Amino acid sequence: MKTDTRYIFVTGGVVSSLGKGIISSSLARLLLSRGYNVTIQKLDPYINIDPGTLNPYEHGECYVTADGHEADLDLGHYERFTNIKTTKANNITTGRIYRDVIEKERRGDYLGKTVQIIPHITDEIKHNITKLGETGNYDFVITEIGGTVGDIESTPFLEAVRQLKWELGRKALVVHLTYVPFIKAAKELKTKPTQHSVKLLQQTGIQPDILVLRTEIEIPESICRKVAQFCNVSPEAVVQSIDAETIYDVPLLMHGQGLDRIVLEKTGLPATGEPDLDNWNKFLNKLKKAEKVINIALVGKYVELQDAYKSISEALCHAAAYCDHKLNLISVHSEKINDRNVEKLLKGVSGVIIAPGFGKRGIEGKIEAIKWCRENNVPTFGICLGMQCMVIEFARNVLGLDKADSTEMDESTPYPVIDIMEEQKQISDLGGTMRLGAYNCVLEEGSKAARAYGKLNISERHRHRYEFNDTYRSLFENAGMKCVGKNPESGLVEVVEIPDKTWFIGTQYHPEYQSTVLNPNPLFLDFIKASINRS
Ligand code: GLN
Repeated sequence: MKTDTRYIFVTGGVVSSLGKGIISSSLARLLLSRGYNVTIQKLDPYINIDPGTLNPYEHGECYVTADGHEADLDLGHYERFTNIKTTKANNITTGRIYRDVIEKERRGDYLGKTVQIIPHITDEIKHNITKLGETGNYDFVITEIGGTVGDIESTPFLEAVRQLKWELGRKALVVHLTYVPFIKAAKELKTKPTQHSVKLLQQTGIQPDILVLRTEIEIPESICRKVAQFCNVSPEAVVQSIDAETIYDVPLLMHGQGLDRIVLEKTGLPATGEPDLDNWNKFLNKLKKAEKVINIALVGKYVELQDAYKSISEALCHAAAYCDHKLNLISVHSEKINDRNVEKLLKGVSGVIIAPGFGKRGIEGKIEAIKWCRENNVPTFGICLGMQCMVIEFARNVLGLDKADSTEMDESTPYPVIDIMEEQKQISDLGGTMRLGAYNCVLEEGSKAARAYGKLNISERHRHRYEFNDTYRSLFENAGMKCVGKNPESGLVEVVEIPDKTWFIGTQYHPEYQSTVLNPNPLFLDFIKASINRS
């Protein structure tokens, strides 16, 4: 173990959805801005090997890392806040821990021992935490424990944290995030749930070092002191996290209460000086000062779920802020779009995003939306399945290829303009088997996409099994839809565009995964610029 790496564990109590990911990301941002190297890891207590097989109703968006891991959406927050790429090692599930232990057992690695939750599962968890520190790359490893203290599922994770905290001494600390509800009828903030959740944590043998109290209204100092007293935490180490105007405020709110300084002091590091948050503040200023509104429609089948397209909405938010506009993202349910209502639904918007996805549901609505956008020259951005729908729409309505489709939707289509990739044909397992992660793409000189990126060689992340069917290429190109981005190794089409339109681009990849606060994605920026020009 690299002896000078510090380990910070973030646990949650009372209820889920308090925003452990945002607190972890905010702390990471502050430590980075003080010059430390930081990585954040999420431990998820479910049995799935990864969230790739979970649908968005269960788990929101599936985020994809550059090294091709289907990951929890919190990793998206980590990257957006820290501007540092995560990897497969940054998201571990109970399923993966058990799989690895069982594989070792089958290999005979345990030399005849009975394999048990303690020590074998907990050792495997500890190994997955400390191996990040052992890379020698990080001063801090922040590990967010998914779920809520008291859940049966997360018990082995907490036991691993307890052991590590004991072994690492001052080099480890626990930040516990809890909830302080405001009871309207009594007009009172209630700390009892926090006291109980800290007790639960203490029962597992873990004493939290820092408490972050989530609250909707300002918590007076006297209440923070009371919590400190009840929970054996020093008063200055009880900070509150009040509902913020934007999640990107949270690092500043935490810094305002000294969270970064407390972490440094408690882990024995010098806590002098201030974090350099200049660029962060520049972004925040733009985000908050923007008055003019840009209306963008997001067409997808999961638009009623606020987390299903998280990276897309954040990438749009970054881009709009940098263009000094306030984003008004209008959700349009793809299943509800038809040729009679499409104009009414999309008329007022300046740009349209056609969302990624899987399966047939909502496809025809997406195609209707694309047709209307193409005919009315509305800036349109198709991502993954969205790009595939742009191709299908063009085939049907411009090339006159009746019933053209993707073989994902209609295996017996007469015109399979989107078809399964060759290497996918033999695959039967669904988990982790798509074309995943970052691949290179070479853009055609003079294309709108190349101009947006300002370069020809790019790398973006993928998550798909189907692709543009190259046998139709010249038909498309002769009619005005160009394939302007290709993977240099496989020749797969990565970007299509209609150069005659103001902005009509589809990407097989997901540019939203690489958009961060300090490094907004160029294609999103260009799309927003075009949309602003139109409005
Ligand atoms: N379902 C399509 C495919 O597998 C698109 C996937 C996506 O939008 N991420 O190719």
